[in-house]
Amino acid sequence: MHSIIVRYSEIGIKGKNRHLFENRLVQNIRAHLKPFGKSNVNRRWGRLEIHSDASKEDLTEVLAKIPGIANFSHVVFSPLSLNDIEATAKEIVGKVVNEFRETAVTFRVTAKRANKDFFMISTEIEATIGAALQDAFPQLKVQLTDPMLEVGIEIWEKQGVVYTEKTRGIGGLPVDDRERVVSLISGGIDSPVASWMIMKRGCRVIYLYFHSFPFIGEQTKEKVTDLVKHLSVYQPESRLYIAPFAEIQKAIKMQTPEKLRTILYRRFMNLIANQIAKKERARAIVTGDALSQVASQTLTNLNCTSENSAFPVLRPLIGMDKIEIMALSRMIGTYPISIQDFPDCCTVFQPANPATKAYLPDVLEAEESMEDRNRLVDEAVEGCEIYNYYCHENRLNI
Ligand code: ATP
Ligand code: MG
Repeated sequence: MHSIIVRYSEIGIKGKNRHLFENRLVQNIRAHLKPFGKSNVNRRWGRLEIHSDASKEDLTEVLAKIPGIANFSHVVFSPLSLNDIEATAKEIVGKVVNEFRETAVTFRVTAKRANKDFFMISTEIEATIGAALQDAFPQLKVQLTDPMLEVGIEIWEKQGVVYTEKTRGIGGLPVDDRERVVSLISGGIDSPVASWMIMKRGCRVIYLYFHSFPFIGEQTKEKVTDLVKHLSVYQPESRLYIAPFAEIQKAIKMQTPEKLRTILYRRFMNLIANQIAKKERARAIVTGDALSQVASQTLTNLNCTSENSAFPVLRPLIGMDKIEIMALSRMIGTYPISIQDFPDCCTVFQPANPATKAYLPDVLEAEESMEDRNRLVDEAVEGCEIYNYYCHENRLNI
């Protein structure tokens, strides 16, 4: 079994609610590790302790993607005596020291003492173990700032912990199944990033894609499905709604002024998202809008598009440049999927000159003139296909 300790980020500052966040993180880690065999995950000394059958590589990959984890270390536990800790440190350092090609390897020992009853204070532990390691490995040279090798030691109640590396997690807060949002995902670069940012703030994301079949082909639907599968490793369970959108687009084309089309598409998307949010007991809608990136995202038009939402519309990318969004998209791994060149439903019957500053009363008038609008919305909600994905085990159950 591999042993790991996990350090969490902002959970540390949550005062009285701290244990709720810690328990949530424990549950989420258990869920994420479930497909990899037996794992024990427990709270310990302001850290989480994991013992798992999963391989070292799988553990690193899984933990680096779970919201709420600041960083983690593969560790070796030792009995709580200075001799045992020293022997463990020598064993671990012996394995890694030869990986450095240089003849001199700079290093430091950093000790933390959660157990204040231990007979030495941290600085004494650091000095003693540091000297013992230098005796055993003459190529080691102490360097406190920016050393090549940092040997970490923690003194817990009943055991010592030794490690030589820390892997960064994504930070943020553990996903809470009760804090649900419905995220409008389109297959573009932006909406997957927006979904990820909201997950990282502790929300469970339910995805909603509007599919304009037959105007838009199956390839775009597969692309969105791929994006959701890719993002499914960041939260325990993901759900994707695929709503049929062609009838609505046809009705908008036939019955309303051309330049308002895109705004009306977006308003209908919101109405459908609101119904799904109610059904899923979600608390907000999320979109990938960034201010003024395209015509439908001017401040005036954003006002028109979300005016009909009973839920807050969260736009985590609102102040970001495209370059910044693309960098995040590469980091979370959705970029190569997003850039596949398949059309999105917004291109269906796209107006030559979309309104950049639509006048809300005009939009409302156009929408109210569509007598079948409630039926169209209800039919789209009822016509949704639903897919569920469990992290690390893409399962399909319609
Ligand atoms: P993206 O890169 O996410 O597609 P975008 O910059 O292309 O965004 P728009 O096409 O105007 O901008 O879409 C803005 C937002 O509207 C998207 O980020 C997404 O949240 C939502 N959206 C657009 N089209 C769809 C769709 N077919 N299904 C679901 N949501 C959509
Ligand atoms: Mg788009």
